Amino acid sequence: MHLNTFDRSRARMAAASEVLAGGVSSNFRLGISPTPLVIRDAKGPYVIDADGNRLIDYYLGMGPMLLGHDPETVIDAVRAQLEHGILYAAQTEIEIEAARLVCEIVPCAERVRFGSSGTEVIQAAIRLARAVTGKQVIVKFEGHYHGWLDNVHWSVSPSEQTCGPLEKPSKVAGTRGQDALAGEHIAVLPWNDLALVRARVAKGDVAAVLMEPAMCNTGAIEPGEGYLEGVRAACSEAGAVLIFDEVITGFRLSAGGAQGLFGVKPDLAAFGKAIGSGFPVAALAGRADLMSLFGTGEVLHGGTYNAHPVAMAATVATLNELAKGEVYRSIDKRGRLLMGEIGEILRAARIPARVQGFPSIFHVSFGTTNPIRTFRDTFALDRKRYVRFTTELIQRGVRALERGAWFVSAAHDDAVISRTLDAVLASARAVS
Ligand code: PMP
Repeated sequence: MHLNTFDRSRARMAAASEVLAGGVSSNFRLGISPTPLVIRDAKGPYVIDADGNRLIDYYLGMGPMLLGHDPETVIDAVRAQLEHGILYAAQTEIEIEAARLVCEIVPCAERVRFGSSGTEVIQAAIRLARAVTGKQVIVKFEGHYHGWLDNVHWSVSPSEQTCGPLEKPSKVAGTRGQDALAGEHIAVLPWNDLALVRARVAKGDVAAVLMEPAMCNTGAIEPGEGYLEGVRAACSEAGAVLIFDEVITGFRLSAGGAQGLFGVKPDLAAFGKAIGSGFPVAALAGRADLMSLFGTGEVLHGGTYNAHPVAMAATVATLNELAKGEVYRSIDKRGRLLMGEIGEILRAARIPARVQGFPSIFHVSFGTTNPIRTFRDTFALDRKRYVRFTTELIQRGVRALERGAWFVSAAHDDAVISRTLDAVLASARAVS
């Protein structure tokens, strides 16, 4: 069987390293086996790399490409928008339409503000929560990622040695150079433990509880029965703002995101990724009475590129496509099939593994067959073997994230799924 090689990517990465720090523009692109790729094209479910390998892609730009890599309606809308100039520092009709669609589709959305990245709209949410409540503490959870800035990059992936006791996790800085004081008002808790959230917000000093409503950055973990409802009630009772970080789950788990799927409304929600099919767009959405503080100018939210017309055109085209529903039916069917078959193949190959999550984003974990329920369950995983597996996969034409996540798009049709499963079978044999 033909196995892909990556010599050209390797050579170009050497050239990249002479001009880009580490050869990349985001640390999450470092250190990938057998080499970080240089990509030259993307179509449907595929990316084509510098060596000419056509790879079935389960990275999907880290999530945004829910419609596949070249959704025609989005590309047409962007081309048409470019005929009208680039940036105006003013409102646009297309921005009003994008906001109207978000308000129509997302349960908690009464008002919207657009930005350019998930990282920055999370910051807007935190600032707003502090302004509204007059309190400072932000509760965040172990293993949850909310962008790379100093005040939220705590205990995102602490080691077993540093994470501290479960009921009172240590606050672990995520990077050298982090402002130690930026964590002063952050309280870290384990996710999916309602009693601990209740006890913490009852202290009365919490401005906001910030969470991924389904934990997709470490494993693909569902909220436990009654957990979101319980946190919602606890926040309402204590006057704390509940913020859902739906940067991954938004428009992916369902049109209405995790809040639509689980039927629990936060006060504020942050969106990014899938909302704009790969264009740099993010949104903060939420209660009108809270968001009005931006409107009166009491709370600052700014940005030269906010609601960039091109990104707004992509957003409107994306949301109109998603509103039809067909995308979700297709992904639901293919994602379920993929999860089930991958699980079967790994079982048959006698590789202890757990496949869990949602059809549109699931996780394959090696080293355990038990459900992954918390961040700490991931300490038991056999990450080295999983990287050997993804390395085998990419040689066979399937590009999947080394951390175990698989993003599925509407462009992954039956033939693509079938070819993926052939590669999974051969790769499982190679590492068993
Ligand atoms: N929140 C979550 C849940 C995310 O997954 C990410 C990105 N992976 C972010 C926030 C940050 O978004 P961005 O990379 O667009 O700044």
